[in-house]
Amino acid sequence: MHWGVDLPKFVQLANECVKSEIQDNPYMVCENCGLFFTDSFEHRLCSCTSKEKQREHFWNKVTDYLGVQVSALLFNLPDDNLAACLLGADKPHLDFEARNQLIKWTATMFF
Ligand SMILES: [Zn+2]
Repeated sequence: MHWGVDLPKFVQLANECVKSEIQDNPYMVCENCGLFFTDSFEHRLCSCTSKEKQREHFWNKVTDYLGVQVSALLFNLPDDNLAACLLGADKPHLDFEARNQLIKWTATMFF
């Protein structure tokens, strides 16, 4: 099944969402898990306990479709670098198809 994503619009919306939250209130409490965070996307992606199943599913997909090496490379990135990468930043140097796939999984599992 083809699942179309307007990538530039997705990245723009995600960045605006993160920026506005940081400007309005640098420290927020997650209504799902009760932990403090400053970046809602990074929190959902890396530490929110309410997203544990999505996180496990996400890393299984990454490993199954992109391989153990890519999975390990991404998994070992600092949280902020991983978040930037999954919002479309050009690190680590993955090919277009891999980055496109990562963004699709991210959009469906963490937004
Ligand atoms: Zn949370």
